[in-house]
Amino acid sequence: MGAATQTTVNAQAQFAGIGLHTGSECRISILPAPAGSGIVFRRCDIDPGGADNRLSTLIHATPENVVGSDHGTRLANGYGASVSTVEHLMAALALLSLDNVIVDVYGPEIPIFDGSADHLVAGLKQAGVKTQDAERLPIVIGAPIRIADGDRHIEFSPSDKDFIDIEIDFGDCLIGRQSLSVDLSRPADRDRLTSARTFCRLHEVDGLRRAGLIRGGSLENSLVVDGHDLLNDQDLHDPHEFVLHKALDLIGDLYLLGRPIRGAIRAVRPGHSLNVRAALAVSRSINATPQEARPLAATA
Ligand SMILES: [Zn+2]
Repeated sequence: MGAATQTTVNAQAQFAGIGLHTGSECRISILPAPAGSGIVFRRCDIDPGGADNRLSTLIHATPENVVGSDHGTRLANGYGASVSTVEHLMAALALLSLDNVIVDVYGPEIPIFDGSADHLVAGLKQAGVKTQDAERLPIVIGAPIRIADGDRHIEFSPSDKDFIDIEIDFGDCLIGRQSLSVDLSRPADRDRLTSARTFCRLHEVDGLRRAGLIRGGSLENSLVVDGHDLLNDQDLHDPHEFVLHKALDLIGDLYLLGRPIRGAIRAVRPGHSLNVRAALAVSRSINATPQEARPLAATA
């Protein structure tokens, strides 16, 4: 996964688009940030209010700040400021090994673009990656960690390679059962992950809309599967696009830890809720192992 020193963006990267769940037009600017500061969102479109105007709009990307994981990952701070659907941006930052950025957000949600991380990765690459004068410390998995929910689970085990084995099972439709091993040190695997789009099944759409979700969803930003048919006109980007997207979501959610994981990850039927529980379990294991802990520096 590249350099052993921390990085930030070389210049500002700006993006605009529709939010998948809110349907709102959203704009973000990704700015350089000092070494050790991590990934911090800043809601620039809301009135900070409160006793401390600056702190109240800052939302640190940490597993502890997740307040929602229903079809997307939502972060909030203690002042009630929140930002939704952060997972593909978090994955883009992970795949580019970007450690420290401020994400200025104008709107409630990170834009969905085509449902993949392609646009974000391309824009961030264009802004450039700048190395910083501080060491990047991976989270080394020293002992197995396993989180399960019925027939779903995620487990971490010690390894000197960064790979993810992942399996999904939608046996009753086009998606079927897919399993895959991705090696995060391989650029070709990172490219496949980057271009894998969000998907949903047509029979879920009404329920999701009733739940106030996917108000911005369309065939432009999601693969929609109806039984054994794909409703989108375009072909899949990859025969394994569905499982690749689940891996992308997992990578994004785990990057809430703010550091790469050195170890093997095996995920069976993961989803945002399980991903976040897994990130919290890893976070707790770091805090229980003082020699590996690196306190997240305050940004404000
Ligand atoms: Zn996703």
